[in-house]
Amino acid sequence: MRALTITTAGPGIADLGEPTGSGHELVVDGLLLGVCGTDRGLIARGPERPPAGQDFLVLGHESLGRVRTAPAGSRFKPGDLVTALVRRPDPVPCPACAAGQLDLCDNGQLVERGIRGQDGYGAERYLLDEQYAVGVNAGPDGLGLLGILIEPASIVAKAWERIDAFARRTTGRALIFGAGPIGLLAALLARHRGYDVHIVDQVDAGPKVDQCRALGATYHCGSDALTGSFDAIVECSGAFTAATVTLLSRGGAACYIAHAHDNAPDAGGRNDPVDTGDLSGILVGGNSAIFGIHSSGPEHFATAQSELEKADPRWLHGLITSTADLDDFNSALAIGPEVIKTVIRLDPDIRPDLSGFTSVPV
Ligand SMILES: [Zn+2]
Repeated sequence: MRALTITTAGPGIADLGEPTGSGHELVVDGLLLGVCGTDRGLIARGPERPPAGQDFLVLGHESLGRVRTAPAGSRFKPGDLVTALVRRPDPVPCPACAAGQLDLCDNGQLVERGIRGQDGYGAERYLLDEQYAVGVNAGPDGLGLLGILIEPASIVAKAWERIDAFARRTTGRALIFGAGPIGLLAALLARHRGYDVHIVDQVDAGPKVDQCRALGATYHCGSDALTGSFDAIVECSGAFTAATVTLLSRGGAACYIAHAHDNAPDAGGRNDPVDTGDLSGILVGGNSAIFGIHSSGPEHFATAQSELEKADPRWLHGLITSTADLDDFNSALAIGPEVIKTVIRLDPDIRPDLSGFTSVPV
């Protein structure tokens, strides 16, 4: 069984043998692995906390696999498509983990498969404790292989859950910074809510712009020409500036998803500093909210799947701008204006054409 691993020397393919567990886990054949900025950052920096006893980490947290074997009494059966939660309870439980809210863990020892402390899903075969498995509908009205988008969509599902709770208006004008996969998925959920959606990035043409327009959103190359205020702002570009909130409407909500250090290109955020008096005026005077999110929980995976099922599968497929075989993982790590989401084929029989993404070869 081959896997995409990282060590301090960089990424590579390792033959790790077949996984052996307690017999209580699902054995999953890896089909697809999504690549994101977190993976590129891990490759650049090396594994910060490989699993105990290892000097390498199996990469990958955006997963789609097919159940190979399931233990007796499982809610899954061989052939089922699954994606999976990323977080696991940390060894020193905190109140959030004790309540099952792993995404809100406030203990620095938390474990995330493929990121820190536990091997990820970038393998031809892996074990999965079924309490962290999420079934993907492979039927005609389901996502099938597009279920590879559920994990990134779960992040924006959490963002919108909170914006919906905070914002005075549940529709109006929405502004998204960054037209990468997270920004475009945030825009999709805004459209599902009926927002007039505006998206800012730095490119002037290409698939990011095409995807914005196909969604019926207004694309802005840089933020200089933005006018008016926005009821919801989602910052997905990594160009973190507090000044973004000066664009908030009264009663609006701004959600920061991307860390400023995530290497995302500056998508045009305004760099002028905000005076604390101004900030108080915006927040208190405007009944407005600014907040950040990180990771996602099972409820967000469920919402993500139903939101993605409402979307045009051709548009979802348009987010996947390239695919690569496991052996060719280096090409999957490239970034550029033509790249939105790259997916690695863990099973070489998974083809990247649209029909291939809507039906699962058995
Ligand atoms: Zn915790």
